Amino acid sequence: MARGEIDVAALTAGVAAGDRRALARAITLVESGRADHRAQALDLLGRLRGAVPGRQALRLGLSGTPGVGKSTFIEAFGLMLTGQGKRVAVLAVDPSSARSGGSILGDKTRMERLSRDPQAFIRPSPSQAQMGGVARRTREAVALCEAAGFDLVLIETVGVGQSETVVSELCDLFLLLLAPAGGDELQGVKRGIMEMADLILVNKADGDLKPAALRTMADYAGALRLLRRRPQDPEGFPKALCVSARETSGLTAAWEEMQALALWRQENGHWTARRAAQARHWFEEEVRQGLLSALTRDPARTRMEELGQAVTQGALTPEAAAVDLLRSLT
Ligand code: GDP
Repeated sequence: MARGEIDVAALTAGVAAGDRRALARAITLVESGRADHRAQALDLLGRLRGAVPGRQALRLGLSGTPGVGKSTFIEAFGLMLTGQGKRVAVLAVDPSSARSGGSILGDKTRMERLSRDPQAFIRPSPSQAQMGGVARRTREAVALCEAAGFDLVLIETVGVGQSETVVSELCDLFLLLLAPAGGDELQGVKRGIMEMADLILVNKADGDLKPAALRTMADYAGALRLLRRRPQDPEGFPKALCVSARETSGLTAAWEEMQALALWRQENGHWTARRAAQARHWFEEEVRQGLLSALTRDPARTRMEELGQAVTQGALTPEAAAVDLLRSLT
């Protein structure tokens, strides 16, 4: 085998054995934009499905604005779970990195203790990609972590609307992390995000901030009660709780709520139904992305240019030209 070439069979074995270096290399492969890498990535994912069928992790989405305590929470929560013998992977969907070119999420130095834990795997966020691309790669990274035998995959995002929607299509449970509010306002959390949340965790419920955290929790508990109860939820969900990532308090209670909800959904068929709906969503998304990228390549690109000129000159109506182009794609 040539130098630098990827041995997909060896990578499959490494990931299936839970080797973190193999997992890191596998994620790099799925993140690559090169056509040959894409083919190998699909080969790898296919082989893993055969090698470790049915391996499933609990996929947890976690959203919160910068400064709310996400990395502190993930570190404390992750260490609590690895302490219980669980293997925890942390991934990030970070749309802002696409703009800044830098990575603000999943940065290893932020979760130093967790990143040194042999039971944990932390992946810095992919950068320089469009939202659709980031989502696809994160979804594949989740599948790789699952194949590597992680019990829990945490998918982190900053709260900017679009990324939450993506994360909710990737996870089994969605957590929203908030900080105690100064006044009695609901911190401008959009209704759509509230509706996605399974648990709202009000962080920093410690010291001087504790009374404000309790008030904020009560406000959100009230707001959640006003939302329509979702069929995938048992009585009492979605819930609002207080935690302190710094003092590691409330984490066990939060974990118990997550497990209770996950179990209820499993027993009532909602778990499988959600994953099936997500698989369908991603299939349709792949098709959309595939069509969009086909438009940027020949022969469609040239045809688009020709038809565009014909439309500009009035030789064709926009509708007729569009029909012509779409037909050429099939
Ligand atoms: P992120 O930007 O959401 O990842 O937030 P960080 O985890 O970096 O935390 C932002 C700031 O909030 C840091 O100064 C943390 O020390 C602080 N912080 C995080 N969790 C807590 C907590 O539970 N209590 C208190 N008092 N401060 C916290």
